[in-house]
Amino acid sequence: MSVRAKKHLGQHFLKDEQIAQNIADSLTEKDYNNVLEIGPGMGVLTKYLLKKKLKVHVIEIDTESVEYLKANYLNLADRIISKDFLKINLSDYFGDEQVAIIGNFPYNISTQIVFKTLENRHQIPEFSGMFQKEVAKRIAEKEGSKVYGILSVLTQAFYDVEYLFTVPPTVFNPPPKVESGVIRLTRKKNFTLPVNEKLFYTVVKTAFNQRRKTLRNSLKTLNLSDILREDPIFAKRPEQLSGQEFISLTSKIENDVI
Ligand code: SAH
Repeated sequence: MSVRAKKHLGQHFLKDEQIAQNIADSLTEKDYNNVLEIGPGMGVLTKYLLKKKLKVHVIEIDTESVEYLKANYLNLADRIISKDFLKINLSDYFGDEQVAIIGNFPYNISTQIVFKTLENRHQIPEFSGMFQKEVAKRIAEKEGSKVYGILSVLTQAFYDVEYLFTVPPTVFNPPPKVESGVIRLTRKKNFTLPVNEKLFYTVVKTAFNQRRKTLRNSLKTLNLSDILREDPIFAKRPEQLSGQEFISLTSKIENDVI
């Protein structure tokens, strides 16, 4: 391996070919022809993606890795984007085509990758890849769990989430401090909300910012009417509410008359 890992870029290179293949195989290849791999590094996962019928694109911020990929994956040459995933417009590269996202993600920006995916969900039917296990679990968790939070509610509003398997630190170079987990998100048939999306985000974030409090207390800043605040839902704490209940709560707030 000619490139040394750069810690600030979240580089943990996968050494285990079987796991690389299993991650590539987590794609169902339904309803899209393009796949974009975020952070291919030296291409351990890319190699298995290239065996599929999909049109493979990669985006990599590290110029040294980009040089390596250009030299070693000739059939990928014009589909290597040498950029920061968080800063690009997907439509600049894919127009209005659908594109699946995959990766052994840089863990330092993994939640930002999920938020960017949610923003661009009209274009992303499927998303799968590796996270720190704790983040992967948090995305997949249902209400009632201690780790259920903003990321779980927002992701599950638009995607069905499956936790696929756990990966130990020993299969990476250098090994991360924690275990990793692979998940798959499948976009829901109906991925538009029946309520104002900005308000939905505000309600979810405000409620979980004080997750120990009842909604009656944590949502005070939203200036709700006394009548609405008597609704039994406000006696609950955010971790007790399913995504659907957050949507109906948002709808009540939207229709509140002060
Ligand atoms: N997929 C490879 C590398 C994983 S490490 C493997 O499994 O071995 C994460 C990779 O993401 C690194 O190559 C790092 O350079 C890249 N990366 C980090 N931040 C990025 C960003 N903002 N946009 C694109 N790639 C990024």
